[in-house]
Amino acid sequence: MLSFEEAYTIVMNHVRLSGIEHVSMMDSLGRILAEDIQSDVDMPPFDKSAVDGFACRMADLGKDLEVAETIPAGKTPEHSISEGTCARIMTGAMVPEGADCVIMVEDTIRENEMIRFTKKETARNICYKGEDVKGGDMVLTAGTMIGPPHIAVLAAAGAVSPKVHTRIQVGILSTGDELVEPDHIPSPSKIRNTNAWQLMAQVSSTGANPNYGGIAFDTESALSAMLADSLDRNDVVLVTGGVSIGDFDYVPKVLERLDVEILFKSFAIRPGRPTIFGKRGNQFVFGLPGNPVSSFVLFEVMVRPFILKMMGCSAEPLIIRLPLGASIPKRRSDRKSLIPVRIENGVVLPVEYHGSAHINAYTRAQGILAIETGSNGMEKGEIADVRLL
Ligand code: AMP
Ligand code: MG
Repeated sequence: MLSFEEAYTIVMNHVRLSGIEHVSMMDSLGRILAEDIQSDVDMPPFDKSAVDGFACRMADLGKDLEVAETIPAGKTPEHSISEGTCARIMTGAMVPEGADCVIMVEDTIRENEMIRFTKKETARNICYKGEDVKGGDMVLTAGTMIGPPHIAVLAAAGAVSPKVHTRIQVGILSTGDELVEPDHIPSPSKIRNTNAWQLMAQVSSTGANPNYGGIAFDTESALSAMLADSLDRNDVVLVTGGVSIGDFDYVPKVLERLDVEILFKSFAIRPGRPTIFGKRGNQFVFGLPGNPVSSFVLFEVMVRPFILKMMGCSAEPLIIRLPLGASIPKRRSDRKSLIPVRIENGVVLPVEYHGSAHINAYTRAQGILAIETGSNGMEKGEIADVRLL
């Protein structure tokens, strides 16, 4: 059987980069930058006071100082500081010429229009021009996913309409005669469709556009019509359920009939062994297992990295290494196992998990622990690799 790593490599080798567009700075939140951003200014742009106080010369700290002017933030100083003088200065204001430190207002007393420093020594309390960034420095690189701190850097660099990768279109279909939508009360033998909505949320969080196609009943004709329609309108199609070897699992057959070349039908993973990956030209289809936990996990470990790479993301999934706080047995060692875990006081703990239909398990999880093929479980204290969610 194909290993997870082999299947993952096949998937990632098929990445096709999406296009590039300009968007407004705020619309770039959650998108992947498609250009390097250089700063057009020094940061700080001038020697800036870090405190409210008096700008003066270190050499004059022992003297009574005459206050030459007051410098609020945003005002250019009018006087330079010479021996025996200082300037009242506010946080963020430009330090006047001649001054080499700013003493804090709390460390001074005022007497007869003069001020005097009351401590023995002071820090310089100056943020120097260009100490964070020099004009022309690269401040963000292509491939970065833009979050709130990146918005601040775009703003500081004046990059008000950055180039980002276009959102890819991702079609989402559920299959199964037993499914009803969440706003219905299921009659006996029916269950609510959870996968499609979970996938809609997962796709949304990548920055791609999720397009819901509905529930396909378990007939070849229904499935064929809905898959054909979704393939017409999307770059990637995700279909859940119907990928196994049950009597009504038509997904592989229908895909082949729609000229989708199937690159694999399963690999050694638990949960989620029946997972299909196929392509038709530059379009891709994932057939994900019907059980909601399997669908969730397979999306996280395989589909999310694929979609992000398609949109130019250079970040790799975040894996942390921490000791296990409890032993985790594994029933069979023939497949890689993925288990929901949480992190508490610096150790990794399993969360209650009854199997691949137990959707509540991942509401309490902060990560996915992998137990490798060939292992019969892990002991308390062993170092575990956890992929953070
Ligand atoms: P299947 O892969 O179609 O055999 O489905 C495996 C299991 O997952 C069955 O118990 C299905 O009822 C369940 N299942 C399939 N699709 C969904 C869905 N969209 N939402 C919730 N459960 C599902
Ligand atoms: Mg089914």
